[in-house]
Amino acid sequence: MPIDLARARSQTPGCGHVLHLDNAGAGLMPEPVIEAVRRHLTLEAEIGGYAAETREAGRIAAVYDSIARLLNAEPGEIALIENATRAWDMAFYALSFEPGDRILTAMAEYASNYIAFLQVARRTGAVVEPVPNDETGALSLAALEAMIDDRVKLIAITHVPTNGGLINPAAGIGRIARAARIPFLLDACQSVGQMPIDVAAIGCDMLSATGRKFLRGPRGTGFLYVRRGMIGRLEPPFLDLHAASWVARDRYQIRADARRFETWESYVAGRLGLGAAVDYALEWGLEAIRARAFGLAEGLREGLAAIPGVTVADLGREKCAIVTFAVEGRPADAVARALAAQAINVSTSTVRSTRLEMAARGIDALVRASPHYYTSEEEIERFTAAVGEIAQGRRVAR
Ligand SMILES: *Cc1c(COP(=O)(O)O)cnc(C)c1O
Repeated sequence: MPIDLARARSQTPGCGHVLHLDNAGAGLMPEPVIEAVRRHLTLEAEIGGYAAETREAGRIAAVYDSIARLLNAEPGEIALIENATRAWDMAFYALSFEPGDRILTAMAEYASNYIAFLQVARRTGAVVEPVPNDETGALSLAALEAMIDDRVKLIAITHVPTNGGLINPAAGIGRIARAARIPFLLDACQSVGQMPIDVAAIGCDMLSATGRKFLRGPRGTGFLYVRRGMIGRLEPPFLDLHAASWVARDRYQIRADARRFETWESYVAGRLGLGAAVDYALEWGLEAIRARAFGLAEGLREGLAAIPGVTVADLGREKCAIVTFAVEGRPADAVARALAAQAINVSTSTVRSTRLEMAARGIDALVRASPHYYTSEEEIERFTAAVGEIAQGRRVAR
């Protein structure tokens, strides 16, 4: 079923205020998400936070079911965590490394992940090794395969990097990781919500994602998936009375399910909003979302590439709904500011977020425009025209 654009837009209040091409930063929340958060905040205000939680226990439990359905996982394999970074951290810092152990990652790895690699490498003597890219700019499966040996203790890859349309070959990486019995941690922060994600088909052991990007959930929400067989092998870096039980004076018992990675206290209204966001995405269908969002992005790339002085910078064979470009003679942040002045939201991707990959291309910053299925064709045209004027302004200024 194709997306009913009129309905998608009428259920997105933000569409009346901004031309929002920043779904890779934070998507516009649809009404059911806003309603779920509001309803619970109101309930907390009226009857108290604990009583509200008790009354909504069924809905809160259903959030795990929804995320499990989204990923083709089991509810017991899901932990709700306040953002993707901490979700990823809870998995990564649960692993132990010895001197000489190898961590394989991708060229376009996200800064927060890479900083964590560097910290753990410094503490343990493990080494971090980026797998080279293939000729399309994606992680090379052949190179990965050639790097596997028994010192490789983790493969940690970003599925869709923050800085462009690239989609790394997650399922191919999963096949290699499985065959070598190496844990595979997938950062799916940018892919969840814009395309179907099936953890069984991908073959990852751990996956982290955020609520606010393409899923269109509230800020301050995220989740971690850990494959059932992997949960018992991961000791969370932090424990509390929810992650573990204090069963005797000197003894505690860690939970058996993925909630061992959670804390007791949480933003309950946000979790309910996240659940609503997942249900809403599932209602549209992730395949329909992917088809429309990818198609709009492709049209946007064509429109931008036709503007003199504009260079589209996306890598990869099949590209997702993240479009990056540069305007000759105009710094990326100046372009973003000029667009913001017209109520057009984009963000910029800088070398600080994906250093290895951007430095290798000699790029300091790019403008990042990320449409979604609720973006209209008219908005794509209006955006392209606005970028055209900015690019032309440069010629006038000369
Ligand atoms: C945004 C992003 C993150 C971080 O997500 P948070 O929810 O902000 O912690 C991690 N990895 C990638 C690839 C991202 O784009």
